[in-house]
This record gives sequence, C-alpha cells and structure tokens, in this order.
Amino acid sequence: IKPRIAQKDVTLHILKTFGIHMSKKLGQNFLIDDNVVDGIVSAAKVAEGDTVLEIGPGIGTLTQGLAEAGAHVTAVELDRRLLDVLGKTLDGYDNVKVVHGDILKIDISQEINKEKYKVVANLPYYITTPIIMKLLEDRLPIELLVTMVQKEVAERMAAKPGGKEYGALSVAVQYYTEPEIMFIVPPKAFIPAPAVESAVIRCTVRTEPPVKLESEKMFFRVVKAAFAQRRKTLANTLKAGGLEKELLNQVLAQAGIDGMRRGEQLSIEEFAAIANAWTNLK
Ligand code: SAM
Repeated sequence: IKPRIAQKDVTLHILKTFGIHMSKKLGQNFLIDDNVVDGIVSAAKVAEGDTVLEIGPGIGTLTQGLAEAGAHVTAVELDRRLLDVLGKTLDGYDNVKVVHGDILKIDISQEINKEKYKVVANLPYYITTPIIMKLLEDRLPIELLVTMVQKEVAERMAAKPGGKEYGALSVAVQYYTEPEIMFIVPPKAFIPAPAVESAVIRCTVRTEPPVKLESEKMFFRVVKAAFAQRRKTLANTLKAGGLEKELLNQVLAQAGIDGMRRGEQLSIEEFAAIANAWTNLK
C-alpha cells in the first residue's frame, strides 16, 4: 500500500525529491487533503471498471484516488517536468495512462475510445471555462463531469435566471448538462493555497437536449448577444447581435417575449423560443 499523496508532508517530500517548483502560470495548486480527494471520487460515483479522463494530474494526487477506486484513468498533463514524477508516484497502478499534452489541443477521442466515460479533475483555474466548453461542445461520449473550480465559477455554472451570476456560461452548461454544486473547498486544502474558495461541481450530461431547437447555432448566437451588454434591453442587444429592425418585433411576438426584458431574466426555454422564431422568420 502506498501512502496517500494528498497529505502535506507527502506532497512536500515529493516536490523536494524531484526539485519541482510549482508553476503559478499553469494553475498548479495541489490538493493536500485526502478527504477532498475521497469526496471528489464519490461525487463522481467512480466504480470498478469505469473509464475516467483526468485533466492535470499534477503529481498524481487525485489520480491515485481514482486508480484505487478501480477506474481506468487517462490523465493528460501539460507540464513535462511532472511526467517523471507521475511515473514514480503512480508506479504500480496498472490502470493509469499518463498522456503529455495540452487538453485544449489534443484530440481526446484519440486517447480514449470508449462508448462512455467520466471526466474527473481539479482543473487549472486559468482555463476552466475553455476546458469545460471544449468537452461539452465536442460532444464527446462523456456521461459525467466532476470538476473542482473556483467557487464563483461553480455558482455561475449552476445559476438560475434572475441574478448576476446567471450568464452565457450558465445557459451553455445547463443546455448540455444538469449541474449540482457538491461541496465547497477552502484554500487550505491546497498548496500553495489559492486566493479564492473552490467548489466541486458535478455536471450530469443530458441524453436529450432540454429544448427543441431549429438551429443550435442560432440559439448560442441569441444567448451571446443577450449577455454581451447585460444592462441593455433584450430588443437592443438582439439588434446589436444582428437581428434586423424590421424582423425584431415579429420575432419577439412569435416568441411571446417582451423586448424590454433583460437577458439575465430569460430561461433556456425563452432563449430557445427567440432563436426558433428568428430562424423561422429569417
Ligand atoms: N490533480 C492535481 C491535484 O488535484 O492536486 C493537480 C491539479 S492543479 C490545480 C492543475 C494541473 O493542471 C497542474 O498539474 C497543471 O500543470 C495542469 N495543467 C495546466 N494547464 C494544462 C493544460 N492546458 N492541459 C493539461 N494540463 C494542464
């Protein structure tokens, strides 16, 4: 049995042995609380034989928890210096494959060709949104994403209409998945301690879209326009987003939506109604 990496003394020892100075630029904040690792593994309901994509294994802290739960893990790490470390810390776990690469650039389907898998990660915070959007937009066969993100980002992902957290990210995440904030993680669970609180969020990928769309492209165009200038009315933001003045009133009437409202008040269904009306009347 190997010691759990998610402990302060073990982590410091590994970093010292390999002479690693953690990179702020790469979002390196490593977990040192093994309750958090266990919490993530159970939030992802990881079971023997599951296939898991991990993003940014670091020194293998979460990877170890996933491997011990019996998952087949493919872990993608950008920092070349960590490959040797991972070779050692994860030595003996035959169910782990480490891939060197940038998660935003690699072809994930080349690395995992399974019909279903889970994504489990303590994400590098400087690229949280691009990573989540790439995973969702590429329509990979992912059933569940359990990620550690900044608390504020988790709140935006799960936000309902009406508040200031609700925006294009909320709509996109909720179009593809059903998000649930699982638990909050304090800065002291990491080294170095980040400046912000974190949260583990579970996004269960929908098998059917929540709304029927004539054009997904139009739906995201409407959402983007509506949130581009949050203080303006819907009518004005849609015009700025390219909806011709002559069509505007017809689109809003067909969708049954008052143009004086603001984007942050609209539900996914209402965005869909506008997008479908625009597509049909165009
Ligand atoms: N999983 C470890 C843990 O929980 O302690 C480390 C998490 S740390 C927050 C984020 C990790 O992502 C770092 O190891 C960092 O080098 C890696 N990383 C940063 N950018 C990346 C990218 N574009 N592709 C893959 N990994 C990346």
